[in-house]
Amino acid sequence: MNDVPVTGEWDVVVCGGGPAGVGAAIAAGRLGRSVLLVEMEQRLGGLISNANIGTFCDTPGGPIFDDLLARLEAVGAASVLINHQRYYPPGRWRCHPGTTAAVLMEMAREAGVNLLLTTMAERALIADGAVGGVIMVNKAGRSLARAQVVVDCTADADIAARAGASFVQGDPEDGRIQHCNFRWGIEGVHSEQLPPPEELEALCAEAVASGAIKPPDTIFGVDRDCFPFSRATGAMILGGWELQHVDPTDPHQTTEAIAQCQLAALQVVRFLREHVPGCEECRMRSAGIFTTRESRRIVGAYTVTAEDVLSGAKFDDGAVPAWFWTDMHDPAPGRSTPYPLEYVVANRPKPGDWYEIPYRCLLPDRPEGLLVAGRCISCERLAQGSLRVIPTAMYLGEAAGTAAAWAVEAGISPREVDGARLKRVLNEEYWQPPTYD
Ligand SMILES: Cc1cc2nc3c(=O)[nH]c(=O)nc-3n(C[C@H](O)[C@H](O)[C@H](O)COP(=O)(O)OP(=O)(O)OC[C@H]3O[C@@H](n4cnc5c(N)ncnc54)[C@H](O)[C@@H]3O)c2cc1C
Repeated sequence: MNDVPVTGEWDVVVCGGGPAGVGAAIAAGRLGRSVLLVEMEQRLGGLISNANIGTFCDTPGGPIFDDLLARLEAVGAASVLINHQRYYPPGRWRCHPGTTAAVLMEMAREAGVNLLLTTMAERALIADGAVGGVIMVNKAGRSLARAQVVVDCTADADIAARAGASFVQGDPEDGRIQHCNFRWGIEGVHSEQLPPPEELEALCAEAVASGAIKPPDTIFGVDRDCFPFSRATGAMILGGWELQHVDPTDPHQTTEAIAQCQLAALQVVRFLREHVPGCEECRMRSAGIFTTRESRRIVGAYTVTAEDVLSGAKFDDGAVPAWFWTDMHDPAPGRSTPYPLEYVVANRPKPGDWYEIPYRCLLPDRPEGLLVAGRCISCERLAQGSLRVIPTAMYLGEAAGTAAAWAVEAGISPREVDGARLKRVLNEEYWQPPTYD
């Protein structure tokens, strides 16, 4: 590493600025630690701001998440949806993604977090089995950020995997992973002039059969998903193509999927403009964004199981409470949206109950000095379907950042942090079980 310039020395370096990463960085910053947050995109918020995901699912998100919501509400950028059957309290939040990115920036600055945007965290610097910093790459080249504790919030456990931590990916049976998604949209449609749904459906089938539209090879449910209109309402909608069998950690596969989706989107627009009444002036709203629900999951000191989710398991170090259902977008039959309410109800803790995510799930088997937070923690895939949502990801980040700060303060490894204390501070002293009024 002698040839890599050192850019600085921090107590905690957080890799990835999604919900988990900002939660971790703000938590450690608020506890007085020097923090560097490294994010490869231009905004904070991860999928919220990079993919315009503005729905925060109904499960608690922790103190930092609640602070975020209060600030968003105050600038008219958040509202809550209550549907007692489908959404457990505190309800489902709809937030403006761009404003969320800006508010997160404000919160990170206030917490004294140092930021490096447009910078990729490449891998950990390891000496004697412990992490000593992170090698980063950006327009200025490669550099080293020294750290006492590193928190991997890259969503794909990039840093942990490259540091030799054990991980799994996909279903144990055949390695299949949840659908990736290509989010794109159409604007300029005169909905009132659209033909009835069955006619649109026939046109769609014809367009694909004639080769006018070549659906991406990996599209899930070509008959259902290829054309961007709702079967339920007949309205032209923001399309999101579900893609199966794409490994998001394989750049060749993701590149091919993105290329095929962009070309197909263009063909759809051309076809609509030429053949479908009401679409003569339509156009693509964006070039489309490829998103991932699932990739690597570390094998930590404990693995959250689907049974833990459904039975409402509690743990001495259960720092993060959660109760979202096991929402899988999976190619296996019967395991994809749209889910009926009965499925949702049967696949979450009982009303008024919750499960806890132990701190141990954030601790990879190796190296020392590393924590992992967000959707890539140690869990079974069905459990990941529940805990990957935005509020829980931020709560997990807050737990990791708090533990990192305590470890630095005490001069110990994150593995030695008292998980029961973390549970007391972040869980028991903070939130109330869901009530229904
Ligand atoms: C199509 C889709 C729809 C969804 N809908 C919802 C929804 O409605 N409600 C909900 O609550 N959840 C939803 N989710 C799930 C949720 O958005 C994610 O699971 C959640 O954002 C995970 O948070 P995270 O911080 O772990 O990862 P991310 O949000 O992915 O953030 C990871 C961050 O790390 C950065 N990064 C990655 N690698 C590196 C690196 N090596 N160096 C530096 N930076 C790096 C990324 O740029 C990103 O900013 C959806 C997910 C998808 C894919």
